[in-house]
Amino acid sequence: MNPQRRIVRHLYVHIPFCAAKCNYCAFYSEPAQEARVERFLAALAREIEHVAARLEPETLFFGGGTPSILTERQLERLLAHLHGCIPSLESRITSHGFEWTIEMNPATVSPEKARLLRAFGVNRASLGVQSFDDTLLKRLGRVHTAAMAQESIATLREAGFDNLNFDFIFAIPGQTSTQWEQTLRQAIAMGPQHLSTYELTYEDDTPLFRQLEARGVTRLGEETAIAMHERMLELTAEAGFHQYEISNIALPGRECRHNLNTWRGGDYVGVGPSACGFVDGWRYRNVPDIDAYVARIERSEPPTDHAERLSPRAHAGELAAFALRMNEGIEATAFERQTGFRLDQLWPEAMGDLVHQKLVEWDGKRLCLTPRGRLLADTVAEAFIIVDKTETCSHHPAYAD
Ligand code: SF4
Repeated sequence: MNPQRRIVRHLYVHIPFCAAKCNYCAFYSEPAQEARVERFLAALAREIEHVAARLEPETLFFGGGTPSILTERQLERLLAHLHGCIPSLESRITSHGFEWTIEMNPATVSPEKARLLRAFGVNRASLGVQSFDDTLLKRLGRVHTAAMAQESIATLREAGFDNLNFDFIFAIPGQTSTQWEQTLRQAIAMGPQHLSTYELTYEDDTPLFRQLEARGVTRLGEETAIAMHERMLELTAEAGFHQYEISNIALPGRECRHNLNTWRGGDYVGVGPSACGFVDGWRYRNVPDIDAYVARIERSEPPTDHAERLSPRAHAGELAAFALRMNEGIEATAFERQTGFRLDQLWPEAMGDLVHQKLVEWDGKRLCLTPRGRLLADTVAEAFIIVDKTETCSHHPAYAD
């Protein structure tokens, strides 16, 4: 390996299969047809071999799609392969702060899978609960019920998972504030360490978007959605949680370390179709198509679709836009050390305007969104984006050879 290439401490693995497509989902995923899954896993194993020498992971994240849709046998092979390719994993999994997350759909959790995952070092499960109301789950096109989610939570606990995240969606058509509050109270009572709550978005070309266009469903008003978000913050704060990112709240010390690294602009390797990564200043994305991904790897070609290195100014802008999503905001000295730029020199006017509009707070040392700014985070982030020249490359930035 080129000695100038740094070791990367964070790995994302994308599993692009789902039991069925949810009505609101625009992510890339396909039904888990066995022959396709097997071909995909063989290709994924080869991509992992190419990047393994760069890795000494402190966090791993299996996302998708639905990683838990893999059978026990498939999961076991993948986990054993990771351990075989990255010998440091064995000692890492017992070290303090090590985090290995898997996203799971309640319809695909079993005691055997849960035990297997724990045995290989997976110590955090992120469960797509979405709602504890079956009517709303059906409206979202989820393949599970609220009872299945409750059962999965018990199964994960029994297998030894003591770090659980539940994902929820709010502002679902027809959802009342009372239903949302009941779901939240039920969630809190089940003792998770982390919650992620997202306002429903109507993505182009999804069944829900088409229903909206055909007036088959009615979008909840923005004020209702804001009130639901604020109620969530109140109820969870009473239970000891704190918001650390726009959509994420956690008990102290249970913030998702993998995501924190990404939002803070740290390096990470992504493997699998449509996975993104950021290494040695290069941001890359793999081809978002299973056939193209497998074909490239079978031809011994890198599966990257696009790899670019932003100019230092553009990189600083991207970093600021990401970091502002976190409640900690941007610490001016750390930002200057990381990027070589002073915040107030790069964006003197934008920052003045945003302070004036009470969207950000700036005390000369730290820049943070105000509570009102958090509601308009995407708009605020746009003010920091710098469009500049980029370099591109055709190799896989994370390959060790
Ligand atoms: S399970 Fe997740 S990734 Fe799969 S279709 Fe539903 S929302 Fe999309």
